[in-house]
Amino acid sequence: MIYIFCAPSGSGKSTMVNHLLTNHPNLFELSVSCTTRPPRGQEVHGKEYYFISLDEFQQRIKNDDFIEYEQVYEGLYYGTLKDEIARIEAAGRQVLFDVDVKGGINLKRILGDKATSIFICPPSIDELRKRLEGRGDTSPEMIEKRLAKASIEMEDMKHFDRVVVNDTLDHAFEQLDAIINEEK
Ligand code: ADP
Ligand code: 5GP
Repeated sequence: MIYIFCAPSGSGKSTMVNHLLTNHPNLFELSVSCTTRPPRGQEVHGKEYYFISLDEFQQRIKNDDFIEYEQVYEGLYYGTLKDEIARIEAAGRQVLFDVDVKGGINLKRILGDKATSIFICPPSIDELRKRLEGRGDTSPEMIEKRLAKASIEMEDMKHFDRVVVNDTLDHAFEQLDAIINEEK
């Protein structure tokens, strides 16, 4: 099974994905996307993302290297590499995707029954703002852009196979573990 995680930025997607990776290191592996945004904090090339230039990104589009790609924010491109599914499946693990809502809907359409799409829903937009501010690695201008996008993305929740409400962490992990157990 392939799991596609989507959520408005700051809703807890990385927290949910890391929960699975930490608890089941031999079962799951994260698909590493390409991005043209610079690394944040402790991010490492090849771990969170392949950080590449816009020129290289455009070359990879021409080479047809991506299953899907999006300009997620103005001037910032993110793309899922076709090779990642093959790389992770060859290692005997299940693929986790962490992509934006549009990308997730596209991936689900392409992968069909091979994938379960999971929407991580914040308890409220106010709480989302607090979490983005609390993370301390996003500028006030980017936080406003992400919140504006979040309100639009929430309307797409209905296109997902499953929804996890990330109110308290314990409750969110419980919902996620139940989904994984059901799909096994
Ligand atoms: P995303 O990957 O969706 O952008 P993160 O997983 O980075 O979001 O979470 C955003 C911030 O909110 C992080 O600082 C994270 O530690 C915090 N966070 C995540 N889930 C919760 C929760 N249930 N309660 C409080 N804070 C949370
Ligand atoms: P961030 O800059 O916070 O790491 O990511 C911003 C958004 O881009 C998040 O919603 C993340 O899931 C999304 N994203 C990351 N990789 C991809 C990808 O390959 N394709 C798409 N469509 N979105 C992605």
